Amino acid sequence: MYEDELVEIAVEVDGEAAEAVVELFNRYNGGDWIEDSAAGEASGGGAVVESTGYDDFGSPLPDQFRMVVKTYLKPGPRGCGIRRQIEEGLWRLSLLYPIPEPVARTVKEEDWAHAWKQHYRPLRIGRRVLLTPAWEEPEAQPGDLVVRLEPGMAFGTGLHPTTRLCVAALEKWVPSGGAFLDIGTGSGVLAIAAAMLGAAPVWATDIDPLAIRAAKDNALRNGISLSPDSLHIQRGSVPAGCAGRFNVIAANILAEVLVDLFDCAYDNIPLAEPLAPGGHLILSGILEEKSEMVLAAAERRGLKEVERRQEGDWVALVVRREHAR
Ligand code: SAH
Repeated sequence: MYEDELVEIAVEVDGEAAEAVVELFNRYNGGDWIEDSAAGEASGGGAVVESTGYDDFGSPLPDQFRMVVKTYLKPGPRGCGIRRQIEEGLWRLSLLYPIPEPVARTVKEEDWAHAWKQHYRPLRIGRRVLLTPAWEEPEAQPGDLVVRLEPGMAFGTGLHPTTRLCVAALEKWVPSGGAFLDIGTGSGVLAIAAAMLGAAPVWATDIDPLAIRAAKDNALRNGISLSPDSLHIQRGSVPAGCAGRFNVIAANILAEVLVDLFDCAYDNIPLAEPLAPGGHLILSGILEEKSEMVLAAAERRGLKEVERRQEGDWVALVVRREHAR
């Protein structure tokens, strides 16, 4: 191998496994040691996502969720070590997801430096929301809401079914001018989409400080200013002092965490408390077999199921707080 060559490792996976593979590549190969010398900037190793299922107009084809996730390694002992970690990590993931053998090949570094940005393509989720890498000008239809994200930071690239289920529910339930709360905001994707759908104010929380940073950066990238009246992003979980304030709340976390948040297992404010009478709570991150457990926890707080959405094994529930009689 020559100095100006890189090893490309590629795995073809569906959307759900793609998010896990992206995370793995970014964890072991997320440093900024690959220089884009033409642009004079460090581009990062990281993961590159290539969607394999779009027609010429950018519309998803039936197998829309097939993705190729790639990462690039420099030659030498460090690259070899990272490759071993990645291969081990992929093997562990293959116990959870159907993941084929990774395909490795050698490519010229300059090809990579210029080519990789072409591969992360706009992704339509919901009917109007078009998720787009920050640098791309997508071909949007009239009425589309273009949400720009820097990929490979916090969870919430739009590759995961739980995110897509939430976005579709937001399009239906977020009223223009209504107050919206996003608990576990990750990249900020749902909060940004809700702000674009006309919700105000939008509040977002996450227990992970890196998510808070990513969500703020992504908000600014989308031209949304940060203030308590427009978009407010804070560290934490269910916010205190907000009883009945929000018309719609989304929480895309995990079934067990949602149940604990309803039941105040962390001494937290109950998940239902900030919801306004007549308001809707979108619960996602729920594997099908756990949906009854989450619904029961919501019902203990007086909420009623109004909608159930499903993609693969993942369920999103929309529950409603009735108006006080
Ligand atoms: N809302 C994004 C990201 C969901 S990932 C989307 O729909 O794609 C779940 C996020 O919830 C992670 O960023 C994680 O840090 C956060 N999280 C986990 N437990 C939490 C809790 N108890 N309270 C608030 N956020 C939590």
